[in-house]
Amino acid sequence: MDDFRVENISAFLQRRVSSFVTSPVVYDYGTVSRIGDGVVRVDDLPGRCYGELLKLGDGAFGMTLDLEENGVGAVLLDKSENITAGDRVTGTGKVCDIPVGEKLIGRVIDPIGRPLDRRPLEVDEYYPVERPAPKLIKRQSVKKPLQTGIMAIDSMIPIGRGQRELIIGDRQTGKTSIAIDTVLNQKGKDVICVYCAIGQKASTVAGVIQELRESGAMDYSVVVAATASDSPAMQYLAPYAACTVCEYFMEKGMDTLVIYDDLSKHAVAYRTMSLLLHRSPGREAYPGDIFYLHSRLLERAASLSDSLGGGTMTALPIIETTGGNISAYIPTNVISITDGQIYLESELFHSGIRPAVNIGLSVSRVGRAAQPSAMRKVSSSLRIDLAQYREMSVFARFGSDFDESVKKMLVHGEKLTELFVQPKGRCYALSDETALLFAARKNIFDGEDVVDVHGAADAYLSELHENSADVMEKIDRSGDFDEEDEKVFLKAAEVINKKS
Ligand code: ATP
Ligand code: MG
Repeated sequence: MDDFRVENISAFLQRRVSSFVTSPVVYDYGTVSRIGDGVVRVDDLPGRCYGELLKLGDGAFGMTLDLEENGVGAVLLDKSENITAGDRVTGTGKVCDIPVGEKLIGRVIDPIGRPLDRRPLEVDEYYPVERPAPKLIKRQSVKKPLQTGIMAIDSMIPIGRGQRELIIGDRQTGKTSIAIDTVLNQKGKDVICVYCAIGQKASTVAGVIQELRESGAMDYSVVVAATASDSPAMQYLAPYAACTVCEYFMEKGMDTLVIYDDLSKHAVAYRTMSLLLHRSPGREAYPGDIFYLHSRLLERAASLSDSLGGGTMTALPIIETTGGNISAYIPTNVISITDGQIYLESELFHSGIRPAVNIGLSVSRVGRAAQPSAMRKVSSSLRIDLAQYREMSVFARFGSDFDESVKKMLVHGEKLTELFVQPKGRCYALSDETALLFAARKNIFDGEDVVDVHGAADAYLSELHENSADVMEKIDRSGDFDEEDEKVFLKAAEVINKKS
């Protein structure tokens, strides 16, 4: 005991300190050299990556978009007025990410995952907003249909799960309505829907959310919103964030649907940021990488192979045109990336043909393969019938005399066009569409005494639902009908002639 001597303080501390294993921490920081309109230029900030989050002066966040030799160019995610030249900037080493998972269903979030519906959101899994698209080997061809519930689309421009179908048209032509009706039609069909609003008025977005809530569609939907009052950086991030939310479910083997409303505003937000960053403007003042902006987004929509769970992501991007000009820069880009387009026309819309789909200019490049056989049987000649009708109706305006067959064709075309008029929010089941188109094919609506096509169609459908509900249910389940069912259709169609 006597041998024990208290160690000298300095020696003790020296021993303690040398036993610590520390790794050196290097803080890189730069300084703001220029700021204006939501864009900052930072000097001396090496080693940053593209899209990395930066922390500026008072705690505001920015995102790097330009990497230069002796600094970076970044956009601010927030409207921060307190940042001035000379403020310190540090990199966070993280790229933007977004919460994912089941808990998001029924929620409204912004592109960085903040809840916008005044309820806390507790999620533990985060995915980065930018992710590589699934490789070719991980995909399979589109083979399951995605019913929109809109007869003109399901019959002539069918969409398959995993397809990218563009909805394009001038302002106020019913673009959003088609997308929302498609979401409403997914009720009970195990499809998770994500609606992404980009650069729209907050009141318009609120209207859409209310519509989804009232119809019960929020039970299987997520809304990602960056409104016109948000910064261009937030609008730029929104579709990638929405895509990531969808990807989570797709990778779990589920079917998903994502709507980008709309990508013209997305391109404009990106152009704003690029011009403020002093990138050289190209055609229509868009920067050179504008094609990559949308292609890397839309390539992430896929139909995954069965070994990866067989999940799908169907994308419905929306593009707004001006004056019906589909050959402008952004429309042609997106048309070339997608697997087809639904072209909506103001003239048709104002003449009462709603949805205002121009069948001649609309196509679906992969959906036909996925169309249910019931629909394929009744829709094969529709496009030709309508094209002939359009061509002949131009001559018919001059009041010339036609022979019997041309007159018949004109009446058939007119009734068919009328049948395709479908009010917003009214979705048809596959069996309804099949039954109606079967009757149209048999010229049942063409009779002189069928004045009101819709009245006749409703009577016919309610007759079928009352007396042959089993047949209708079978068609919905199997996606096909046989000769026996045809007899049921014809018998029910007698009600049309009787009533009128
Ligand atoms: P914006 O360019 O403002 O985004 P939009 O092209 O998305 O417009 P919508 O908002 O979908 O168009 O529709 C415009 C108006 O047309 C709405 O008032 C809507 O109720 C009406 N509408 C859309 N589709 C139909 C339809 N099938 N039948 C009747 N009205 C419709
Ligand atoms: Mg709209």
